[in-house]
Amino acid sequence: MALIVQKYGGTSVGNPERIKNVAARVAQYRSRGDQVVVVVSAMSGVTDHLIKLAREIMPLPNEREMDVLLATGELQTIALTAIALHALNVPAVSLTGAQAGIVTDGVHTKAKIHNITPRKVHELLNQGNVVIVAGFQGETPEGQVTTLGRGGSDLTAIALAAALKADLCQIYTDVDGVYTADPRLVPQAKKLAEISYDEMLELASLGAKVMQSRSVEFAKKFGVVFEVRSSLNDNPGTLVKEETKSMEEVVVRGVALDKNQAKITLVGVPDKPGVAARIFKALGDSTVNVDMIVQNISHGAGSPQTDISFTTEKADLLKACKVIEKLRQEIGIRDVITDEKIGKLSIVGVGMKSHTGVAGKMFSVLARDGINIGMISTSEIKISVTIDLARGEAATRAVHEAFIG
Ligand code: ASP
Ligand code: MG
Repeated sequence: MALIVQKYGGTSVGNPERIKNVAARVAQYRSRGDQVVVVVSAMSGVTDHLIKLAREIMPLPNEREMDVLLATGELQTIALTAIALHALNVPAVSLTGAQAGIVTDGVHTKAKIHNITPRKVHELLNQGNVVIVAGFQGETPEGQVTTLGRGGSDLTAIALAAALKADLCQIYTDVDGVYTADPRLVPQAKKLAEISYDEMLELASLGAKVMQSRSVEFAKKFGVVFEVRSSLNDNPGTLVKEETKSMEEVVVRGVALDKNQAKITLVGVPDKPGVAARIFKALGDSTVNVDMIVQNISHGAGSPQTDISFTTEKADLLKACKVIEKLRQEIGIRDVITDEKIGKLSIVGVGMKSHTGVAGKMFSVLARDGINIGMISTSEIKISVTIDLARGEAATRAVHEAFIG
């Protein structure tokens, strides 16, 4: 007998038919003798709709009340899922996050889980029930309702799997698993049998949004092995776990294209201590998320100057420009150039740590196709370049072909 935590996302519980399918799958596992804890999201679109309702009343609603409001989305699904199991004669009980023992800090709308005391969950399982827990929510030690940030049901599932010492944690979604590239872009993309936490995190931050990043970080920290798989079929999914020796034999696990970046170049910035600090502190204070940063070697004798380029999400471009405009006089930046027509192409793989020539190979493929490289940034397991957006998809296919096939 195994204890399994299964998480179903918004599309997997998007209508009564889908909820019945979820119940049928849960019933199947239970009939094998497994104990099943089900974590569900709100039905797709519900959380967005609730946010919209609140904002129609007031642009910046109180965050405590937003948590009370948003938590209702998941409450609908836990009850409906329990009802669907009852319809199949399977004993099932729904629990709110608080009832499941999920205690968080008091940072409304993005609370962190403090601890989980799943006494009630164990009790109900031992009585033979399927236990259905509302994702994305918890309560403070004082009993205030909190939510864990968008996509937070993933975190509920991973954290519960850790607290329950579950034998298996399955994340059911509307894709089959994690692929070597976006299959809509690269028809040759293959589903991965396994991937390491770090690779998954890099790919998620690169726009391959399969799961909430925080939940993957949590899984890594607590060693929770989990499987990403589809609720629409029975195909095996992708196992996400600590990296193994054999994983290092694969140089590039995945290729990703991020079309949502914009580049800002500051031309003629005085090259002296404290300038970069002032620029990027000001950006940070205005919550502009900066990704790649490249600074040139300085030029000019006497009072040397340099150029600094950085990328940010397109959505933050305006805000970033405002921040820079304010500093421009003060610091003495000669010119500011923005470019929204860039794509960030990245390759990711733990194998890069022990293989040489990876960057050279990537750049050669781009050179062969006459694609110019803008900025370059690297980490131990990732190489990213910015290129012309118009060439982005073709470049992704070429690089995938060269490294993966
Ligand atoms: N319902 C929440 C959201 O839409 C949590 C989740 O789906 O994981 O963000
Ligand atoms: Mg979700």
